[in-house]
Amino acid sequence: MKCVFCKSEKDSHSHLFFSSPFSRRLWERLKGMAMLNNISNTWDEIISSISNRPARNSIRSVIQRLVLGASVYFVWQERNLRSFGDSSRSEDELFRTIVDTVRLRIMGLKIKVSKDVLHAAEVWNFPVEKRIKYKDILDEILRDDMDMDGEGQTRVKSHNSVSDGL
Ligand SMILES: [Zn+2]
Repeated sequence: MKCVFCKSEKDSHSHLFFSSPFSRRLWERLKGMAMLNNISNTWDEIISSISNRPARNSIRSVIQRLVLGASVYFVWQERNLRSFGDSSRSEDELFRTIVDTVRLRIMGLKIKVSKDVLHAAEVWNFPVEKRIKYKDILDEILRDDMDMDGEGQTRVKSHNSVSDGL
């Protein structure tokens, strides 16, 4: 059986994820948004660099796993739809579907605002409430950078990196 996307290679798991030109282009667009630029398009290498790493709760790690999961799910679904001849979606439609799915999943998470989260919010276009954002950043500054000096006076270290977050 031939691959339903390129109709030239044999239909196989490793071809589908993500060697076939159709799925490879999709994966390459999504890789950039998930900060996975240095990861290959080869299934075994993707799995060893994402899934086999200990699951961490950093926003980057969460998004990477969501993107991989949604990409596999929708490419597989599209392959089945096409092989049954029901319908087909364009690369752009599939791309938007995957992005929307990942965004909705992110919005369902309880997220503590950080610089990485604000960056992800711009890339994935999910809302971060301004008031919460402000409060969390202040909490972070006060917790990390407030020291007591010898005279018992409070001293705040200079903190250049935060001003652009406010
Ligand atoms: Zn193919």
